[in-house]
Amino acid sequence: MKELASALTLRRARKLYRERRILDSPQGPEVVVENQRCLAFCSNDYLGLANHPALVEALQQAAGRYGVGAGAAHLVSGHSALHHALEEELAEWTGTQRALLFSTGYMANLGVASALLRRSDRLFEDRLNHASLLDAARLSGARLLRYEHADMARLAARIEAAGGCAMVASDGVFSMDGDLAGLPDLARIADASGAWLLIDDAHGLGVLGEGGRGSYSHFDVAIGGNRILMGTLGKAFGSFGAFVAGSEVLIETLIQSARTYIYTTATPPALAAATRTALTLVRDEGWRREKLGALIERFRDGARARGFALMPSRTPIQPLLVGGTAAALSLSAALRDCGILVPAIRPPTVPEGAARLRITFSAAHREVHIDRLLEALEQCLAGRSRRVAGPKRLR
Ligand SMILES: *Cc1c(COP(=O)(O)O)cnc(C)c1O
Repeated sequence: MKELASALTLRRARKLYRERRILDSPQGPEVVVENQRCLAFCSNDYLGLANHPALVEALQQAAGRYGVGAGAAHLVSGHSALHHALEEELAEWTGTQRALLFSTGYMANLGVASALLRRSDRLFEDRLNHASLLDAARLSGARLLRYEHADMARLAARIEAAGGCAMVASDGVFSMDGDLAGLPDLARIADASGAWLLIDDAHGLGVLGEGGRGSYSHFDVAIGGNRILMGTLGKAFGSFGAFVAGSEVLIETLIQSARTYIYTTATPPALAAATRTALTLVRDEGWRREKLGALIERFRDGARARGFALMPSRTPIQPLLVGGTAAALSLSAALRDCGILVPAIRPPTVPEGAARLRITFSAAHREVHIDRLLEALEQCLAGRSRRVAGPKRLR
């Protein structure tokens, strides 16, 4: 106990202490945080569906008919007609043979890796992959080898030197940087060694590709065979949960042996109803992606004009690299004083010395919101460079 308390104290002193903010409103461009109304640029609700009336209605109606709890795991008696219909619709939409619902993306990644890999296998992962893919590797017991971010030539060379591998896993869109994985290269490299390719498309699904089908579609790479899609439903879909899509054999294997699928309660059927509604909106309302794209461009143009250090991202994740942890925190706090909510992201979520503001956009934002953000950033950065000589007034 004593060690824990002093570890917490140390963490606080290093400005690495994590605290939750209490939200008292739905997700949206404006949220109420601790009695303050803020303009928010931090959710992953990229299409503005989390509080969409059609999703709310679908959830309410289905709860009226099916109740709240699923009551059991999918393989016992928790697999409802609504779950099943959603799986079939997700398979059709992604152009795959089958799709399988998981409770969360975290559990889906753990389930896939541990069902497909053995201790003697090698698994290659991008250094900037999401924590759940790293934990998936750990749980699988396979030998984890991490390659430098996006370095495809190194990856190919290392696989060859290692004498092959069983799986390559990567974020489709990197969650803290917003850049895209080189999916065509990854597919080629995985094919060449007969390895599985697991793409975690938490931030690409709904946003990229034709009809929002995600990173695979963006690069025109088909899913199936050795290629696996893990998609999450709590981000652009505005709902909750996740799914894995791919070949018939893959999905049947997961049903038989993915422990995070088997030994957990199914999500509420009403949630599947809300997600089915979300899918129709993701698929049919292309204007949401167009509007989002225009807002991203507006932000990037304005940021460039003001000399902020943008990262090479075309996605709704637009980080501003700050560097030091304390500097990122104080910038975030200064914005908060202006009524703008943007979190500082610190190590270990990002590498040491790469603390940043993680700004995200949603189709629910309006142009005036982007302009307010740009003005507030300019003001806060100017105030900061007057107070302290460093850190780089962003490029
Ligand atoms: C959010 C996220 C996950 C986890 O998904 P949940 O459904 O929230 O558990 C997995 N991978 C990436 C890249 C993510 O950003």
